Amino acid sequence: MLGPKETGNFMAANGKTDIDHERLKKVVEGIAVEIRKATEWGKAADYIPELAKIDTKQFGIAVLTRDGQTIAGGDADTQFSIQSISKVFALAIALKAKGEKVWKRVGKEPSGDPYNSIIDLERHKGFPRNPFINPGALVVVDMLLEDRERDDLPDTVRDFIGDMIGDHAIGIDEDVVKSEHISGFTNKALANLAKSFGNLNHEVDDVMHVYVRQCAVALSCRQLAAAGRFLMLDREDIDDKVSKADAERARRINAVMLTCGQYDGSGDFAYRVGLPAKSGVGGGILAVVPNTATVAVWSPGLDDNGNSLLGTLALERLSQRMDWSIFGAVRRV
Ligand code: GLU
Repeated sequence: MLGPKETGNFMAANGKTDIDHERLKKVVEGIAVEIRKATEWGKAADYIPELAKIDTKQFGIAVLTRDGQTIAGGDADTQFSIQSISKVFALAIALKAKGEKVWKRVGKEPSGDPYNSIIDLERHKGFPRNPFINPGALVVVDMLLEDRERDDLPDTVRDFIGDMIGDHAIGIDEDVVKSEHISGFTNKALANLAKSFGNLNHEVDDVMHVYVRQCAVALSCRQLAAAGRFLMLDREDIDDKVSKADAERARRINAVMLTCGQYDGSGDFAYRVGLPAKSGVGGGILAVVPNTATVAVWSPGLDDNGNSLLGTLALERLSQRMDWSIFGAVRRV
């Protein structure tokens, strides 16, 4: 049997999981080198014309550990639009503001249909299957707009992320915003359909305005890992930014990320990586190792399900080599 030093985690005397940072650094840097040699990089999302222009041969990774250290590799400081990863932050804000009432307007079940499926929304009479498919995210944005004036549409998600990373100079990629306004016919159709079923209270244009801006928030892997820190914290690790209640809600959010976070590839992702995660069509993935770390990877080429091809491979290798699957540490049995 291997001793604790050979595993990614080891249990400290107080029962908390600690991390061998030297080993983690070697693993992260090794993965960055391996991924650079890839021959297959996947295909950038092309239904948003601005994303189609991105050079797919890029890869970044950043791991933020519970004690606040960041270990990074590759293009970890290049910014990309977080796209659907923004839906995790929007859900966190909505749950904090509205509590369990959120689930009266959106479900928490995997959809089994594409994330922008109109037929799925129609089948469920305007009740989206989960907050991470587009209609679900549009309904969550609608909730965030409650009590706001029409002309005071906030960059709520950007502000939340700014608070989390302690830097409010968060950019929004305005070219991506324009591109999505022009190409977002399906999203507008979804918002209209939800409205026709009485599940959207604000004007479609207002909801779209906020949704498109939150998707176009531009972060690097290093920033994204920091923004997701609240998702890994144990109740004992709370601080002025993350309360006990936030940490408790984070468990629920992680559950939805595990079951619904990777479009129609959520089952395959759970099988290969074994971590709660959310991907976006910009090629980013935010993954959570509860009580231990948050990981952000980015590579703009996508697989057939719309998940970053090499980002997923990198997470699979990281999870295996660090024994980070939430389903158990294989090398210790
Ligand atoms: N802004 C994208 C859309 O609405 C987000 C999709 C995604 O990342 O899944 O289509």
